[in-house]
Amino acid sequence: MRSAASGTCRRCLRTPRAATATAAIHSRPFSSLPLARRSTASRRIDTRSNGNVRSISFFGQKKSDESAAVQSGAATNSTEPSSPLVLRPDDLFHSYTQSPIPEIRRRAAFMRQHALCPHPDHRPTRLPANPDAAAQAPASTGNQAPAHVDFECPDCGIPVYCSEKHWAEDYENHLQICDTLRQINEDDHDLRSGRFFPEFEYAGPQMEEAAINMTNWDTFLYTRQFEAINNDRSMRQVTRLLTYPMTIGSVLHELSPYNVRKGGRLTPEGLKSLSALRYTLHPPKTGGGEGIRGLRPEAPPVRIFILGARAESSLPRNVWVQLAHLFPRGKFHLVFIGPDSMANRDDEFPLPPRTPSNPFGALVEDRVWPSMKISTIVDYYHTIHKTGLFAPYDPYFDCFVLFHPGLGHPASSHEWSETIPLLFETKAPIIATGYTQYDMERDIEWVNKTCGGEYDLLMEPGRNTFSSQRWDLNDLDPQDVTCGNWGVWAFRGKRYEATHKTSE
Ligand SMILES: [Zn+2]
Ligand SMILES: [Zn+2]
Repeated sequence: MRSAASGTCRRCLRTPRAATATAAIHSRPFSSLPLARRSTASRRIDTRSNGNVRSISFFGQKKSDESAAVQSGAATNSTEPSSPLVLRPDDLFHSYTQSPIPEIRRRAAFMRQHALCPHPDHRPTRLPANPDAAAQAPASTGNQAPAHVDFECPDCGIPVYCSEKHWAEDYENHLQICDTLRQINEDDHDLRSGRFFPEFEYAGPQMEEAAINMTNWDTFLYTRQFEAINNDRSMRQVTRLLTYPMTIGSVLHELSPYNVRKGGRLTPEGLKSLSALRYTLHPPKTGGGEGIRGLRPEAPPVRIFILGARAESSLPRNVWVQLAHLFPRGKFHLVFIGPDSMANRDDEFPLPPRTPSNPFGALVEDRVWPSMKISTIVDYYHTIHKTGLFAPYDPYFDCFVLFHPGLGHPASSHEWSETIPLLFETKAPIIATGYTQYDMERDIEWVNKTCGGEYDLLMEPGRNTFSSQRWDLNDLDPQDVTCGNWGVWAFRGKRYEATHKTSE
């Protein structure tokens, strides 16, 4: 499972309603409070992941609007001009513990119960999430008992040390992340401030003759005519969601920022694989039209299997439709697969029954957009693969995406060890992301070790042009600051050329 994997768990898009159905997934009942549920889930994962779990909510408390938006694919999601303004834009910084937003106060309480003081006088309790941080910090040689965080830094407003003394003594280390934590604090309060969010009004379909510039977020948003993103905070909030469709789109698109030129990160094998998909996603004009005489054969949609899906499966549908808008003549079938792929989607329960025609009880949304359909299956991919449900696979029509899979995370790699060889069999490209360089490198190392030479690299690992610009902190370890889809790489099962040995 990804969360444990990457040490991360993204939560709480919407308010629970169908308590019974969700309980089945979350394995224990939860209160009606979104945060209580976040905590429950985090604790559940915590037991398997050395406490290295991230809790992130995409929106905070604008639940009902999002539910409606998710279900209807409406044009706006988290905002309603009439909602009362709780915080002014110049009043976003608040202590987590004293926050005017109840959800943030509950988060602070959760941290105080679970996060540990990083001062080196405490006995080390777990492996550092990031070896760089460990290298910077003095080696933990102390023998004081581990202590939960209790002291809130006045500059970032987040409980980070067990006491003021430890905070002061370790201040130089804390300074390295204090500004980032303060930005997270303000962004979190902004998201729940009740303000109107024009940045969540996404651009509509792209005119075919207007090329999209994917050099970076700025050029992309400009050429896509996103109008209302005029400050860094709006940019951070909007990229945090758009990073999911854009990470996929920026790799698959013919105007991709990644290429085979020097430093362009795409390998020759990668170009072969992506050219096949691009052929399908950017079909030539057929001269077809409405009416019988204009009928032309149409290619089936490109299937994008998003494995180990968690929060991304509950993103408002208009966020995913942005992927369709990048390919005006392409068609998509997104398939979210994973045991947690219905997390935060309580309004859609109960799941359809398992029938011969729908053997895995897939939830199908076929009216998301005329060129996009979304299916969700709550199961492991390897289970489904073995039944042949999606076979045959075709490199012209299929692609796998793993958002922060944590392939190499000690708590979750066993869950992937059965899946990855099956993905290699399909020869379809696999796009994978990581929260940090370390997270991504650990995944790559695991694939190298586990799968030997059985794969081809399609895209060199590196920074994702369309990563989230917003930082998030791990409620179980506030020192662990990351951003969504920080890095991206791509690979696929090795293709062997048929060779003939000439006898001499
Ligand atoms: Zn301490
Ligand atoms: Zn601070």
